[in-house]
Amino acid sequence: MSKFPAHLTSLLGFLRKWPGVGYKTAERYAFHLLNWSEHELDQLSNLIRDIKKKILSCPDCHAFMEESGCHFCNLSLRDPSMLCVIASPKDLFALEETRAFKGIYYVLGSLLSPLQNRNPSLLGIDHLKERISRLHVQEVIIALDSTLEGDATALYIKKELDSLPLLKVSRLAFGLPMNSSFDFIDGGTLSKALTGRQRL
Ligand SMILES: [Zn+2]
Repeated sequence: MSKFPAHLTSLLGFLRKWPGVGYKTAERYAFHLLNWSEHELDQLSNLIRDIKKKILSCPDCHAFMEESGCHFCNLSLRDPSMLCVIASPKDLFALEETRAFKGIYYVLGSLLSPLQNRNPSLLGIDHLKERISRLHVQEVIIALDSTLEGDATALYIKKELDSLPLLKVSRLAFGLPMNSSFDFIDGGTLSKALTGRQRL
């Protein structure tokens, strides 16, 4: 039997699903919520309830978008001659913060990993190629983590794009030779990696 009322136990169960949240932190969050006003709790509940309805996936670049359309595919704001391939929508925001890239994006959503059964069919390469041709992209910048999976995926994409009349396929130069990841790179380093990108 739990020492907490049933409702609180259920809430703790959900809070513990968040990354990095264990029993003690979940308890702290739950007790903190009990101090919030009804109005704040309503606002939070509404935001969580609508998150999947309000935050959509762009059918073209797979970044997050709102109902009004995809900011990153708006060609009056973005330069389609450069396309940056990234693994997750989260990486896009890291690149946007550097303000060093004004091109368009393609979010893969996954990296190749034979061990975890993540094969090329998940990457949507045909869609990527179609977009490159349609928008007359000149340079594809592959911005994937320098890990085994990131390297394998970058090489696979490079090989697939060889048949297109692209001017250049390049890869971010992270400055760190192995296992460097978007999660651990600051904006300045990322910006330098973009400027110092190397032809693949
Ligand atoms: Zn888009």
